[in-house]
Parts: sequence; C-alpha cells; structure tokens
Amino acid sequence: MKELEHYIRAASRNGRPPRPGIILGIRMALAALGRLKIAGLAHHTRSLVVVVETERCLPDAIELATGCRLGNRTLKLRDMGKMAATFVDLVTNRAVRVAARESANRKALELYPTVEREEALSLAYRKLSEEELFDVAFVKVQLRPEDLPGYRAPRIFCDRCGEGVAFRREVRIGDRVLCAACAGKTYYEPL
Ligand SMILES: [Zn+2]
Repeated sequence: MKELEHYIRAASRNGRPPRPGIILGIRMALAALGRLKIAGLAHHTRSLVVVVETERCLPDAIELATGCRLGNRTLKLRDMGKMAATFVDLVTNRAVRVAARESANRKALELYPTVEREEALSLAYRKLSEEELFDVAFVKVQLRPEDLPGYRAPRIFCDRCGEGVAFRREVRIGDRVLCAACAGKTYYEPL
C-alpha cells in the first residue's frame, strides 16, 4: 500500500518508525476515505470532519492522513476511550465510523509470535486486511452549525466573569447568559 508507506515515512522520527497506534490510526483513516470515496487529503476544502473517540496516537494519525486538525475545527475529540473515529463528508453528508476490532491485537501477535510485542503490532497493522482490523459502519452524524468549520457568530460575554465565549458554548439560565464554567460545567477550581 503506497499511501500507507508514505504516511508511515512521514510519521517516522530520526529514522525510527512510528508507534503501532499511529500505523493503526493511518489505516483507519485510509479505510474511511476509501469507503467515502475521498481521494487524498481533504484539508484544502475543509469538507471532511473527523470525530476521534480517544486521545494519544489516534488524533495525530488522523491529522497526518487527512489533514483534519483541531486548529481548523475539522477534528473533534469526543473522548470515549475507544480506538474509533467517525469520518463525516460534509459534501455528500455521509459518515462512516471505523472502530478497531478487539481481535486485531490477538491476530497481530499470533502472526508474529517470535517478535517483540511493539514490533509484532507494527508489522501486523501493515499487513492485516481492513476487515481483520476494523468494524466499519455507515452512520448518521448531526453536526450543529456552530460545530462546522467556517461558522461565524459574534462572541458572547459571560454575565458573571466577563470572559468571551465563542461558537455558542454559552449557557442561558433564565435571563442570564453564562459561560460553561460559571454555569457549573467546569474542569477546574479556582485556588
Ligand atoms: Zn463566566
């Protein structure tokens, strides 16, 4: 697979091949692009949005193979702790979810029983078929207008802390407009 080897080379650092998770992520992206019949990188058009379901290797691999990234709002993290991602083609409105199969690891290690684990996974993730690696399903994803790349709207200012809030992430409680933090949906506590 020419494309796969191209991206693996691009992900190599100082002559060291990428982690197996990166290779699996690249395979995942290529599988999805194939199903959606999207050729090559989509980053020129911003017509592809990818929702990744875990952190670590997967977002990096998806960014590499699709050009989708947080910075232009075409990559979203919905952390469910799963090695899975959904690829949404905004032109055709079709979406495909690709999830790594639990059996893929076992198959990989069976394929190269005498090789060290990381190496065995790296080799196998190149060799196994998409069917062996992934469950693939067409799905429906309803992205809100404010979640799409290119969405424009004025920022709202929180009635309590005064911080600006973009992309309609504000919370309305009665006649007050609050940021998520002031509305109690926060991940930090002031010291
Ligand atoms: Zn606030």
